[in-house]
Amino acid sequence: MSTDPTSPTPKVAVVTGGASGIGLGISQRLARDGASVAILDLNGLAAEEEAAKIRAEGHTAIGLRVDVADRAGIENAILDVRARFGPVTILVNNAGTEGYQAFLKITPEDWNRLLAVNLTGTFHCCQIVLPDMIASGWGRIVNISSSSTHSGQPYMAHYVSSKSGVVGLTKSLALEFGPKGVTVNTIPPGFIDTPMSRKAEREGRFGNTMDYHASITPVRRPGRPEDIAAACAFLVSEEAGYITGQVFGVNGGRNT
Ligand code: NAP
Repeated sequence: MSTDPTSPTPKVAVVTGGASGIGLGISQRLARDGASVAILDLNGLAAEEEAAKIRAEGHTAIGLRVDVADRAGIENAILDVRARFGPVTILVNNAGTEGYQAFLKITPEDWNRLLAVNLTGTFHCCQIVLPDMIASGWGRIVNISSSSTHSGQPYMAHYVSSKSGVVGLTKSLALEFGPKGVTVNTIPPGFIDTPMSRKAEREGRFGNTMDYHASITPVRRPGRPEDIAAACAFLVSEEAGYITGQVFGVNGGRNT
């Protein structure tokens, strides 16, 4: 059991970017494990539709439109979540956007937008939700970074920089909030079959097909959102309480 519903701390989970791909897999998994889940996503309609499907399975979920680059919008959404479910004890910072551009052609606007969503969005959500966790004496934060932080990635300097910042933020928060009962870890996914990676494939950015990349991946398949969700479910569980500040790779052996 991962999100133990018998534990004394109610499990109220916020998943950003939870209406698609990896975030959706995480939202479904945490709800099935017993958490009350708030899906915060730029696509508010999809967030509410996916939450309704989770409710139809007998679990607890709501969907709200949020741009994680908009601090006031996040604050309002978290007020709503608290009013419906109580203090937030689990935060999964998954919302992310990518870019593909030769470094010399990256504009300051491109750079700022990627950092605003991927890194500053994570900062906003952590800062807004951490007081609930501190007051509860218990909290779990999982930040979704990227396997590209292990190796770098040509034409994605802004993306990799933003995700590398997420790794540094994770380690620093783990040290600062461990004494308060809060663990903070990061999962850098590698090669997960989602709408984001299918779009990259269609645009020819993989240099080859997903099938080809699966054939050179040690486990011989792309990752699935469920693979990341399983790791996340463990990291937010009671039994993962001694794991913090860690980079928990889920990549089929592509980055060892
Ligand atoms: P995805 O299928 O595109 O899902 C991302 C979700 O986040 C979408 O619903 C998107 O909404 C939402 N979103 C984007 N910008 C947002 C914002 N500013 N505020 C709130 N929500 C926002 O992508 P994914 O592949 O599941 O990726 C999830 C995370 O994993 C991302 O952080 C990504 O960088 C990371 N990651 C993925 C892979 C991979 O192989 N797939 C590898 C490494 C890292 P819209 O659809 O409306 O934009």
